[in-house]
Amino acid sequence: MAAKIIDGSEIARKVRTEIAAEVAELKGKGVTPGLAVILVGDNQASQTYVKMKEKACEELGMHSVMAKYPSSLSQQELLNKITELNEDNTIHGILVQLPLPNHIDEKAIIEAISPEKDVDGFHPINIGRLMTGQDTLYPCTPYGVMVMLQYIGCEIEGKHVVVVGRSNIVGKPVGQLFLNENATVTYCHSKTKDLKSFTTQADILVVAVGRNDTITAEHVKQGAVVIDVGMNRNEEGKLCGDVSFDEVKQVASYITPVPKGVGPMTITMLMHNTLKAAKKSAK
Ligand code: NDP
Repeated sequence: MAAKIIDGSEIARKVRTEIAAEVAELKGKGVTPGLAVILVGDNQASQTYVKMKEKACEELGMHSVMAKYPSSLSQQELLNKITELNEDNTIHGILVQLPLPNHIDEKAIIEAISPEKDVDGFHPINIGRLMTGQDTLYPCTPYGVMVMLQYIGCEIEGKHVVVVGRSNIVGKPVGQLFLNENATVTYCHSKTKDLKSFTTQADILVVAVGRNDTITAEHVKQGAVVIDVGMNRNEEGKLCGDVSFDEVKQVASYITPVPKGVGPMTITMLMHNTLKAAKKSAK
């Protein structure tokens, strides 16, 4: 029997409705959640993402500030802007759109953002809190994966989760979130020997590699839940994930499509984090 498709757009819509209601409630108490997004340079994809974030804020009744700069902006000027936003009481979340131009040190920028306003969840303090099982601002895409699984009622405790990919923004934190939920976690990466021998053991397989058709039917155990984080273009320029969707859906019990899978959850969780930061500051 073919897998059930996990509809990320639908889940994102439901989560956004809940967020909008909480935003309205908080506004009633005199606090409007505010997100500042900083864009440096003219990267086309980054411009699209920034616009999507602005639109999401608007739809959910949040305050948003877009700060756009030419790629000639110096690191010090960017740090000054972050200091200003750290001190701005109307702003609860600060996001610097990555990648940054080469002359700016991304690490220094991420570390300059107040951890309480780090809605991307990339600050080492927030990563440390995640590692030690503390409630904090979690990275958006990994957190979105967890919320999707919660929505479909997927049990996590005791499951074997195999994560393919170990980036700081997706692979590592998503594995840690599963570990915090009492799963047994295996990480695979480009140096893993015999990938298939690991992926076929997965009850839940999360793939964040960045290459189409990395995972085919033979990599997947019958009845596994398959989460495809990848966002790639195939030869025809069509958006696709890391998983060979048509064949894997014949083996899996649940599978996320690309598009309309994990993608819509990422910005939704950014909105969630902004609301969470605002609620915390209001306390
Ligand atoms: P990175 O390039 O930072 O990391 C890719 C990871 O995949 C690395 O850990 C790498 O291993 C591993 N890898 C590469 N080739 C193989 C292979 N053949 N077998 C096993 N592992 C391999 O990518 P990101 O984590 O940033 O992104 C991954 C994908 O997710 C991309 O398609 C990206 O566009 C997408 N993405 C989607 C988002 C969404 O909202 N849906 C958000 C963020 C990303 P090693 O560490 O050894 O190099």
